[in-house]
Amino acid sequence: MNSEDIIAVKKLLSTPQQIVIIPHKNPDGDAIGSTLGLCHYLNSIGQSATIVSPNDYPRFLKWMPGNEAILNFERQNQQAKLALKKATLIFTLDFNHLGRAGQLEPLLQSSDAKFIMIDHHQAPSDYAVVTYSDVTMSSTCEMIYNFMEYLGATDYITEAIAHCLYTGILTDTGSFKFRSTTSRTHKVVAHLIEKGADNTTIHNNIFDTNSPSRIQLLGCALNNMVILQEFKTVYITLSQDELDKYKYQKGDTEGFVNYGLTLEGIRFAVIFIENREEGIIKISFRSKGDFSVNQFARNHFSGGGHDNASGGKSDSSLEETVQNFRALLPQYKEKLNS
Ligand code: 5GP
Ligand code: MN
Repeated sequence: MNSEDIIAVKKLLSTPQQIVIIPHKNPDGDAIGSTLGLCHYLNSIGQSATIVSPNDYPRFLKWMPGNEAILNFERQNQQAKLALKKATLIFTLDFNHLGRAGQLEPLLQSSDAKFIMIDHHQAPSDYAVVTYSDVTMSSTCEMIYNFMEYLGATDYITEAIAHCLYTGILTDTGSFKFRSTTSRTHKVVAHLIEKGADNTTIHNNIFDTNSPSRIQLLGCALNNMVILQEFKTVYITLSQDELDKYKYQKGDTEGFVNYGLTLEGIRFAVIFIENREEGIIKISFRSKGDFSVNQFARNHFSGGGHDNASGGKSDSSLEETVQNFRALLPQYKEKLNS
């Protein structure tokens, strides 16, 4: 954030605001961690802040302090609409174009509130009075820490805030291993631990709460894995029937795509997951090195994200989507092998 932005934020927060904080649709650890961290801070300085999530999110994120106050737009529709109607200031966190807010998009488009965007994805759109966008950041949670530092407010980091921000940094850095993890990230995390983030408990809450059926679903996914050595590519499919068979719960497929990248020499890993209710195939892309899956998702699957982690979707059937995907690979052969 530049000094003008900092002055603008300080000015906005110097008067009472009705604040709504929005994570992206299908929020992940970084989206929930950052919205909760910011919400705790804003309420502690006397503002009135509420989180409205476009839809539900995985059970392994629901232990975070303040979770119970998050309004799910699908389940608490009236309350959520009222909060948005009253809003004078809206923070959008961990996304950068309003289409990522799912069903909330039209309400955000027509809102009179001022917007502040805090996000680390590529190509931000221009809807906010303050746009704090930085693609070099590990996570939006690290940016919330910076945001509080810019406001001279790191003394306001409570144990609850520390837990929330630690969680998002942990999940978005793949447990501190992605390239976006810097020495600064570790310094922020160190400070969060000093402020009370209990790292062992957080890791346990996020990663060690598997159900037997989730492990079986992982087995099914790994069985379906196809390795295309000549393109250094691996892909996995999961049909709706397979998800049903293993009693799929939201969040169960989190991290499955990463298994492909653990194979020696593989640069590009993809998972295709059928969603019959929405009539789409949801796709996650991951890469190692210089192959930009952000660009790949943008070019071919109406998506986006980061250079090494992105997502998209397809309206075709699972079989057709996979066929289309395979047909694209020859044009990337050189890049994938360089
Ligand atoms: P995931 O594959 O874990 O759902 O998402 C990986 C990254 O890509 C995240 O940063 C997420 O925000 C982004 N992403 C996932 N799906 C989409 C999508 O449909 N559109 C865009 N623009 N980004 C996405
Ligand atoms: Mn993020």
